[in-house]
Amino acid sequence: MTFEQFGLTEALARAVRESGYTVPTPIQAQAIPVVLAGGDLLAAAQTGTGKTAAFTLPILQRLQGTEAPRRNGRVLPRVLVLAPTRELAAQVADSVRRYGTHTAVRAMAMFGGVGMQPQLDALARGVDIVVATPGRLLDHLARRSLDLSAIEILVLDEADRMLDMGFINDMKKIFALLPKARQTLLFSATFSDAIRALTEKLLKNPQRIDVAPRNATAATVSHTMHPVPQSRKRDLLVHLIDDQRWTQALVFTRTKHGANRLVTQLDAAGIQTLAIHGNKSQNARTKALADFKSGKLQVLVATDIAARGIDISELPVVVNYELPNVPEDYVHRIGRTGRAGLSGRAVSLVCSEENAYLRDIERLIGRGIERVLIPGFETPARAEPVAPAPARRHAKPGHARGNQAHHASPGKQAAHPAAPAAPHRRKRGGRGGGGGSGRAVR
Ligand code: AMP
Repeated sequence: MTFEQFGLTEALARAVRESGYTVPTPIQAQAIPVVLAGGDLLAAAQTGTGKTAAFTLPILQRLQGTEAPRRNGRVLPRVLVLAPTRELAAQVADSVRRYGTHTAVRAMAMFGGVGMQPQLDALARGVDIVVATPGRLLDHLARRSLDLSAIEILVLDEADRMLDMGFINDMKKIFALLPKARQTLLFSATFSDAIRALTEKLLKNPQRIDVAPRNATAATVSHTMHPVPQSRKRDLLVHLIDDQRWTQALVFTRTKHGANRLVTQLDAAGIQTLAIHGNKSQNARTKALADFKSGKLQVLVATDIAARGIDISELPVVVNYELPNVPEDYVHRIGRTGRAGLSGRAVSLVCSEENAYLRDIERLIGRGIERVLIPGFETPARAEPVAPAPARRHAKPGHARGNQAHHASPGKQAAHPAAPAAPHRRKRGGRGGGGGSGRAVR
C-alpha cells in the first residue's frame, strides 16, 4: 500500500513526502478512502497509530476542491475537530497546518488558558478548520465570535477521554448547533457504553475500523514491573535512569502533587526534569514539552490527563511511577512508546498496595507483565508500616534483604496473599487472596 493509491492532490502528496512517510499506517490505509468518499467513520485507534493524518489528509483533499462559504464577507469554518485537551488540540492543529502547508486551507487551534484575542483575530481573518476543546469553543459561541452553521465535517478525537473528562453536556450543546447534513468521524481508544450511545446518536451508517484489538497495547512494547515499596520508588527510579542509561523517559504519576514532588526529587538527584499537568500554565506546559522533544530535558513527569494525546515520537521508555487505578489509562500511557513500529519499553514501579491494579491491567491488555526484582529495592514481605524502625531508617540497598526469604518467586510475590487491599480499590469479587497467580510471569 502506498500513499499514491489514495489519489491525493500533489500539494498533499508533497506534504506527506516531506513528513517522511512512505507507507500508510493501518488506520490511514482504511480510513482515508472512507473519509474521501464522504462516509461517517467510527474508528478504534489510539494516539500513536497515525490517526491524525488518517482524518486530516482526506479532509484537506475535500476542502481543496470546494469554495469556502462566507457570511458578511467572512470565511466560515467547514470543519470542526473536538479534542479533550489543550495539548491534543494544539498538536492536531499543528498537524493540520503541516499536512496543509502547500494548500490554501487555514486551520486554528482554539483552547482555554491562553488569551482570547489571537483566536478572535484568527476567526476574523477566516479559518477553514477549527480544532477546539469544548470549553473554549462554547466561550466563542457565547460571544458570537464563531459561526458553526457551515460545518460540513465534525471530528471527535479521543472521544472516550472527552466523556471521561465530563464534557458530555458541552458536547451536546455544540452538536445542537451543527448542521444535520454533515460527515462525522469519531476516534476513540476504548468503547464504553457511553461511547456507544454517542455513536448511535451522531453517526449515520458509519464504517467501523478497528486497527488494534480493543484495549491492546502495541506488540512492539515490552512490559516490565519492578516490585518496590512506595518509599523506595524515587531511589529505584534514579537507579534505573542511571543504570539503564535512559536518555528520555516519560514518567506518570497519579496526582499533580505527586508530579511536583517527583520533579523536585529528581532535580535534586541531578536529573533534568519538568512536569506537565493541569495546574501549570499553558506556556509552561508548551515549553516543557518542547524541551523534552528536543532532548534538552531528560525526564518529563505527567499526569494522565495532561499527557493525553501528547505526540512524542520515538519515545523509548514510559514509566508508571504509580499505576493508574483505571486500567484503560495504562493503555493510554503506554501508547506514547513503541509507536509507528518502533520498539518501546513500559516500566512500572509497583508497591504491594497496587497489586490489584496490576491484575486489572493484565486482564485488560490480555497479557502478563514480567516481574523483575531489582536487588536492594524489593518489596518487604511484611506491610511496610510495621517494618522495624532501624531497617527503615537507613533504607540503603541491601537492608531490605532480610525479608527476602519470603519472596519464593517473582510470580508468587505478585499474588502475595498478605498484600493489603488498595485503599480506593474498585469493587471486585472476593478472590480469597490467591487469584491471578497463574499468569504472573509473561
Ligand atoms: P498520531 O497517532 O496521529 O498522533 O501519529 C503518531 C505519530 O506517527 C506522529 O509522530 C506522526 O508524525 C507519525 N506518523 C503518522 N503517519 C505516519 C506514517 N504513515 N509513517 C510514519 N510515521 C507516521
